[in-house]
Amino acid sequence: MSNRKNIVVLGAGESGVGAAILAQKEGFEVFVSDLGTIEKQYKAVLEEKKIAYEEEKHSTERILETADLVIKSPGIPDHVALIQQLKEKGISVIDELEFASHYTNATIIGITGSNGKTTTTRLIHHILEIGGLDVGIAGNIGFSLAKQVAEKDRAYYVVEVSSFQLDNMTTFNPAMAILLNITPDHLDRYEYQLEKYIASKFRMVQNKGAEQVFIYNNDDVNIQYGLEHYYNGNKAAIYEISMRALEQESDLFRVPETDFEMPTSALVLKGRHNYFNMQCAVLVAKKLGVENKFIEKALSSFVNEPHRLESVITMNEIEFINDSKATNIDAVFYALEAMTKPVVWIVGGIDKGNDYAQLFDLVKEKVRAIVCLGVDNSGIQKAFEDKHEIIVEVRSVEEAIKVATLYAEPGDVVLLSPACSSFDLFKNYKARGDKFRAALMHQHKMMTEGIQVTLNINLAHNPVDNKSDNN
Ligand code: ADP
Repeated sequence: MSNRKNIVVLGAGESGVGAAILAQKEGFEVFVSDLGTIEKQYKAVLEEKKIAYEEEKHSTERILETADLVIKSPGIPDHVALIQQLKEKGISVIDELEFASHYTNATIIGITGSNGKTTTTRLIHHILEIGGLDVGIAGNIGFSLAKQVAEKDRAYYVVEVSSFQLDNMTTFNPAMAILLNITPDHLDRYEYQLEKYIASKFRMVQNKGAEQVFIYNNDDVNIQYGLEHYYNGNKAAIYEISMRALEQESDLFRVPETDFEMPTSALVLKGRHNYFNMQCAVLVAKKLGVENKFIEKALSSFVNEPHRLESVITMNEIEFINDSKATNIDAVFYALEAMTKPVVWIVGGIDKGNDYAQLFDLVKEKVRAIVCLGVDNSGIQKAFEDKHEIIVEVRSVEEAIKVATLYAEPGDVVLLSPACSSFDLFKNYKARGDKFRAALMHQHKMMTEGIQVTLNINLAHNPVDNKSDNN
């Protein structure tokens, strides 16, 4: 028997395989176990590196008997039997990010929150890269930190951290931590208790004695709650950013506590939420000594991931925007707020208990018609039936586009911003957004080839009222 320490990795996706590579490099005996089938590309890596693995099962006995430490995929909830058994036996179960952070001296910038993580993480990475720093990007965004640490360590990492990753963290201690916002989401993983979700987010800044920079959204009530109940007051240098105070109309984009400013017109990202994300990003960059000229260049050249207020195409003077990633009310709130033209709003999917009341004012002010794209649209219907005259139900993106085009007038926007997850009609939010984009491209092609597009759905149950009444 080897007297090397045993690490068991549960889940062989990007993070699990990355953790296995690092664990092997650091001299551990490694065993990877996945209850599902392992993707081909990951299996190839495990085989090439001769890392022991199993798929479509967890050999519970072997794992319980041999593991000194378990690294768990964030996709596996804490309540599953194996995790409970490991914890009862006193075996530590940690996340890949925490494990990886023990083997690098890099400065880690961690970004968490309910909305805006990917955008802000990518934005900071982009600024630091343009600023000439040796920087990697990792975490929930799909690149394993452990793999990078093992294969080509960097001086800086910008890491998107989800609450699932934070759940089991005790020593992850990013030098700079950003908490963007906390709105009810994923509550099924937290016994439907918002407090538990808030507590999870505050694990980013839980280490007493740590010298951190902590940047957070000052007017988020759930963050305020967390500060009172879950923040132990480490030695962090604190930067509070107020989202409410952000001036959208100003010609100059400024970042408080810094000398940074640039013309608003040159910014790629629009909307108050993105101004906030950019302020957080610039604060980090300034702290790390990036010069203003590089920051300005980065903010005017950033290309965001698709499905986040992605302007797809303008046809017949109607702009179509794909915001399929907006799976909760807060994200839709900022999407609608960012719209400067009348909107035909495509919404719906699996409603996670949305409170649409937060959108009433914006919908009244900006929305010309509501197109419900979901299997069960009763929540939206109920919320808006007394408030809006045009509510139409559809079952496919093609229908949604046709109906939206019918109601939109030249100069309007058709906004897919669903406030719901997508699993009723689509594989995920990406598939929903991709289908929306593909259908638009198809329509554009037909239009340019002169093929007439006919409206092939029954609007009998969806009375068409005078649309100009509903601006
Ligand atoms: P995450 O990775 O946290 O899901 P994304 O950057 O992918 O965040 O954005 C998800 C959705 O939230 C998009 O619709 C986007 O427009 C919106 N969004 C981005 N930043 C914020 C923010 N600071 N507050 C609220 N919504 C935001």
